[in-house]
Amino acid sequence: MFYKLANFFANDVAIDLGTANTLVFVKGSGIVLNEPSVVAIDQTTKKVYAVGLEAKAMLGKTPDHITAIRPMKDGVIADFQITEMMLREFIRKSQKKKLFMRPRIVIAVPSGITEVEKRAVRDSAEHAGAREVFLIAEPIAAAIGVGLPVDKPSGNMIIDIGGGTTEIAVIALDGIVANSSIRVGGDELDEAIVSYVKRSYNLLIGEQTAEQIKIKIGTATKVDPQLEMEVKGRDLVAGIPKNVKLTSNEIRDAISEPISQIVDALKTPPELAADIVDRGIVMTGGGAMLRGLDKLLKEETNLPINVVDDPLLCVVLGAGRVLDDLHMYDRILMHGSHD
Ligand code: ADP
Ligand code: MG
Repeated sequence: MFYKLANFFANDVAIDLGTANTLVFVKGSGIVLNEPSVVAIDQTTKKVYAVGLEAKAMLGKTPDHITAIRPMKDGVIADFQITEMMLREFIRKSQKKKLFMRPRIVIAVPSGITEVEKRAVRDSAEHAGAREVFLIAEPIAAAIGVGLPVDKPSGNMIIDIGGGTTEIAVIALDGIVANSSIRVGGDELDEAIVSYVKRSYNLLIGEQTAEQIKIKIGTATKVDPQLEMEVKGRDLVAGIPKNVKLTSNEIRDAISEPISQIVDALKTPPELAADIVDRGIVMTGGGAMLRGLDKLLKEETNLPINVVDDPLLCVVLGAGRVLDDLHMYDRILMHGSHD
């Protein structure tokens, strides 16, 4: 009885805790928050100075006593304490009213997460005010968000290209039948662009500029006509600001190494290949939006590749559906060794 009342009053939430972006879905309201997974810490007080969009704008250009941090940069939780601070701020921001009841929280996490990391995410969410915490593997949440028949015996293959990782999973009978994960995602593409521009033009650009280049003119296959972009950086020889014009095809070459790692990961797929051939592979995550990537993967694997409509939203939408019916989805939630 108490639980029924608590469920009625609490604003239960679903969270996609991504390495690049965190999204929060509130039951009955939909997606209420979608911000970069970045925290700015004031080193003098050790307190959170800003989170999300505001903190991302500070990356690389903060005053001395403020540091902007991506606590999950490399596909794992690099800093538990700061991840917890971030989670708490995002949960607070997404609760419009003062918390009347502690919410139940479903959190989507990378499928390769360790027991220690699971524990840390659970603890963070509990410290951040959760009454109960449920973890779900990101690829399953994505598959549910896309509306794939995850409960059927035939496999659904998902490739999710996020900021820090690319995860490939085959899902059937409410579980992950096979999966692989590489620590290559959108961040590596940005880093490859930074080093290319340094190498070819003696020009230093920041990772955020590199990300904009990737989004504006980046491509995985040759494009015709070429896209161009004027970029400002700091000349490494003269030490002064300089502009260069970059083209799509040179960016394609610049990112070819990490792209081929993603291609290779998909070419050595987990089992169940047979029933995947009919239905193809569903591509999600922000990296899925890279120009020409679907075409390249199609050519390289000879399998149909489908980019979903909202590659950045499907994980949180899937976690939101699970939130709506925790009882029905109980089988697919991650259960730690302690429970
Ligand atoms: P995560 O789940 O790790 O938080 P996301 O699924 O939110 O990651 O994807 C973020 C990544 O997608 C970033 O590296 C970002 O630069 C990249 N991205 C976003 N939009 C595009 C685009 N249009 N083209 C290429 N990459 C993109
Ligand atoms: Mg993600």
